[in-house]
Amino acid sequence: MDNQNWLALEKALRRQEELYWENPKYGLSSRQDLGWEDIEEAALRLDRFRPLIKKLFPETLPWDGLIESPLTEIPKVKAALEEEGIQWKGRLFLKRDSDLPIAGSVKARGGIYTVLKHAEALAKTVGFAETLNYSVLAEAPYRQLFQDHTIQVGSTGNLGLSIGIAGAALGFQVIVHMSQDAKSWKKELLRQHGVVVKEYASDYSLAVKEGRRLSEQDPKSFFVDDENSKDLFLGYAVAALRLKDQLESRGIAVDADHPLAVSLPCGVGGAPGGIAFGLKSVYGQSVLPYFIEPAACPAMLLGMASGKHDAIAVGDIGLFGQTQADGLAVGRPSGFVGRLVEPMIRGIGTFSEDRLVDYLKLLFEKEGYFVEPSAASAFHLLFQAARESWDKETTVILWATGGSLVPKEVRRVYLEGR
Ligand SMILES: *Cc1c(COP(=O)(O)O)cnc(C)c1O
Repeated sequence: MDNQNWLALEKALRRQEELYWENPKYGLSSRQDLGWEDIEEAALRLDRFRPLIKKLFPETLPWDGLIESPLTEIPKVKAALEEEGIQWKGRLFLKRDSDLPIAGSVKARGGIYTVLKHAEALAKTVGFAETLNYSVLAEAPYRQLFQDHTIQVGSTGNLGLSIGIAGAALGFQVIVHMSQDAKSWKKELLRQHGVVVKEYASDYSLAVKEGRRLSEQDPKSFFVDDENSKDLFLGYAVAALRLKDQLESRGIAVDADHPLAVSLPCGVGGAPGGIAFGLKSVYGQSVLPYFIEPAACPAMLLGMASGKHDAIAVGDIGLFGQTQADGLAVGRPSGFVGRLVEPMIRGIGTFSEDRLVDYLKLLFEKEGYFVEPSAASAFHLLFQAARESWDKETTVILWATGGSLVPKEVRRVYLEGR
């Protein structure tokens, strides 16, 4: 980006204006450290774990031990949008990771995958083999082994829930380092699962840093590094293989004449980046991934547009990063993810805070699904310039990244304002 453009963009970002940034590097080729084989390996590992997942989490029985969510068409929302003049040729779907089993958010994909992979590696040190039935990992001697080990993670909330609930179910001690944005109900729920929650009166990056430091001091502690983890990323990427099946079973074509636009709420970048990476591996140029971020905290946009990735944070342009979208309250993007997915993200949109409750209510009132504020931000794509470039018949998927664990009282506050 030339200096003039960058200055104009930086000014708009500083003012927290809503904007849509079209990625000039979209479609350029780049060297990639991860590929199709890595996604397949992750999918195979999750398959092997199905017997254990069913045993520890009976709510996955309907999915036969897969951690997966429905893809649901939301025609009443589409009709309501049309009345407001928001139109395009093609259908509108909600990917309901808000209803993912175990952790109720997109973090159930990457987080639980990472915990399982770590457990598998530990179990192999005491004679476990991949040919065994994985449900034995819930029993001696493996359970004792896990009880003797710690997992730590820094989180704005949902990653902690995912790692905490899965880790504790296997027997691990789990310590979650939480930033100030984390909702108190998320902390309480974790404590109910026997997880140690450490709170920091600072932002997310510091919670991660401190967690990483404390974990390094303990040889039996494993740190899940949200800013740098390939395992998390690949756990998210597997979503694309599952989505492909879901679209095929409905007879929905995705090809050059029928593009797929996907709206992904973005925090540090791992979940939306992993999903975008998986989708690009499956659909190539026919899929258009978009990231959505709070105007108050546009970390990935800042990192990509400046080319500085994790060498810049929203604080550097005078933003405090405060947002109701707690899952997106991340001031510094993942450099690993930003560099990897830079040529794959069509554009990034930012939204103002006052939009969230409207989106959340629109979905709930028209279709009856509740999602949390971070997830509701996916709707913002439909209100932005991106839509104007969809000249072909375009299937749109809004990725609802979280919601089912939100307590009733908290839901009522969002929906009714009290
Ligand atoms: C974590 C999270 C995101 C974004 O994922 P990142 O990996 O942080 O980019 C989006 N929505 C919800 C509900 C989340 O919890």
